[in-house]
Amino acid sequence: MTETILITGSNRGIGLELVHQYAAQGWRVLACCRQPDQATALDRLVEQFPDVSVYALDVAQQDQILKLARDLQEHPIDILFNNAGIYGPSDAVFGNTDEAKWLECLRINVIAPMKMMEAFLPHVAASKHKLIAAMSSKMGSMADNGSGGSYIYRSSKAALNAVMKSAAIDLAPRGVKVAILHPGWVKTDMGGPNAEITVAESVGRMREILGTVTPKNSGTFFDIDGSIIPW
Ligand code: NDP
Repeated sequence: MTETILITGSNRGIGLELVHQYAAQGWRVLACCRQPDQATALDRLVEQFPDVSVYALDVAQQDQILKLARDLQEHPIDILFNNAGIYGPSDAVFGNTDEAKWLECLRINVIAPMKMMEAFLPHVAASKHKLIAAMSSKMGSMADNGSGGSYIYRSSKAALNAVMKSAAIDLAPRGVKVAILHPGWVKTDMGGPNAEITVAESVGRMREILGTVTPKNSGTFFDIDGSIIPW
């Protein structure tokens, strides 16, 4: 049976390349994005790969998450990939932390992946691979924080890690595994042009890492080279 992956934030950046590489491997891809009518790069992949279908999903809207889970209820999902994320305000330095923008960042980077897991657990549990992935960041690591700042983004990814670690424990009895990934510093709108690696390289390595996730290492925070990032 064809394996299926659902990807959030799939219209550009790392999400778009996840669609590309999994589709090229023959997977069925459920590509979610906020505005399908403006997703021209995604449309090109749909033309190229018949097993890519596009769904409207703003992950900050819980009613949209629940509706999509209902619409897809007959579909086992081998990998639920929580990729969508925002950096939030780039000027969130000490003394300039806007509460509303912080809450918006937490809604998208932390609460949305949790709501996605809750809504799509039946689909994942019914699949062969039973894997949930979350796009975190080394910036969420306390141990790696040697430069301070970035209060909003750092705290959102640290909270995401806490959520995913609990899910790894709680979902183990259902046979569901969880992978927490740092994609590297990647050339995207978020990563910027000076980033270290391309989306193709990042996604290629993450696909390899996802192939190594077992019930034993579920809940691990993986660096892009497969090593473990300390919390
Ligand atoms: P981009 O800014 O290029 O893309 C972000 C994606 O997330 C877009 O598709 C965007 O959609 C989507 N998105 C944002 N908010 C929502 C929402 N409410 N609902 C649905 N989709 C949404 O970022 P990257 O591709 O670089 O980042 C992808 C993930 O990787 C993020 O979680 C990021 O934190 C993480 N990451 C990236 C790093 C890097 O170096 N690039 C490093 C570490 C982590 P839209 O076009 O509609 O805005």
